Amino acid sequence: MYKLIDGKLISTQIKDELKQKVADEHIRATLAVIQVGNDPASSVYVGNKKKACEYIGIGSAAYELPEETSEEELLKLIDELNADDDVNGILVQLPVPKHIDEKKVINRISPLKDVDGFHPESVGNLCIGQEGFVSCTPAGIIELLKRSDIDIEGKECVVIGRSNIVGKPMALLLLKNNGTVTVCHSKTRDLKTICKRADILIVAIGKPKMITSEYVKEGAVVIDVGIHRMENGKLCGDVDFDDVKDHTSAITPVPGGVGPMTIAMLMVNCVKAANR
Ligand code: NAD
Repeated sequence: MYKLIDGKLISTQIKDELKQKVADEHIRATLAVIQVGNDPASSVYVGNKKKACEYIGIGSAAYELPEETSEEELLKLIDELNADDDVNGILVQLPVPKHIDEKKVINRISPLKDVDGFHPESVGNLCIGQEGFVSCTPAGIIELLKRSDIDIEGKECVVIGRSNIVGKPMALLLLKNNGTVTVCHSKTRDLKTICKRADILIVAIGKPKMITSEYVKEGAVVIDVGIHRMENGKLCGDVDFDDVKDHTSAITPVPGGVGPMTIAMLMVNCVKAANR
């Protein structure tokens, strides 16, 4: 019988701990969230981030900029927020419209306020094991594993996906926790054989239900980062949950697995930013 890893429950526990800490230590923090354009999915994410700030008792300031905002205008706003002592964390909701260079935007946010953990300095710190902000989704996955009593040390960990925001930082965090890590990607040959070696399989591909039981070793832990809306309106992940679940010892559902952890870890980073 597999264990269902309940990201909703664990993320609520984390937010409750933060709420207590914010109250006990009289922490004052404000997260600035910038959204350019009105992509509906981005608006939902921004709304959820605002709600999470309210829940744990910190401030949030929303900057809703029109689609036609120039790169220069956006960078100027980031400069102002970098210089504003009342703002502890800055987040630009991605993706930004095509006429704006995402890399320039990420690089402009002060590393001291980089609560998304995307700045090259934050990534560099993670790489060499120094203190800094860590990308929220992979940090949330480590927390899910730890709070579900799943040991990483010495385990064969396979990460599918090498994006800057999930796959790469995930591999670094597993390594930091003494896992033996393999990273797979679109050019990997014989993906199934490599995945079958995994004690812990982390899937961040962006392809609905691609991972079936043929990729999973009996008793493995499977973490599904993917999120897709199917034609029937329901959500699914990169893992074919119904096919895979009985072959695992533990698995995350979609929704209610990795997703809620991302926002909880953003709140962890906001509280950390207030203390820096
Ligand atoms: P991405 O598109 O940037 O990266 C996908 C990765 O998968 C690439 O590195 C690519 O090499 C690899 N890949 C693609 N096809 C492959 C194949 N056939 N075999 C092996 N590898 C393959 O995506 P991302 O930003 O890393 O996100 C991945 C998924 O996770 C998406 O579904 C995204 O929506 C979801 N996501 C969820 C959260 C969350 O909070 N739950 C956060 C970020 C991303």
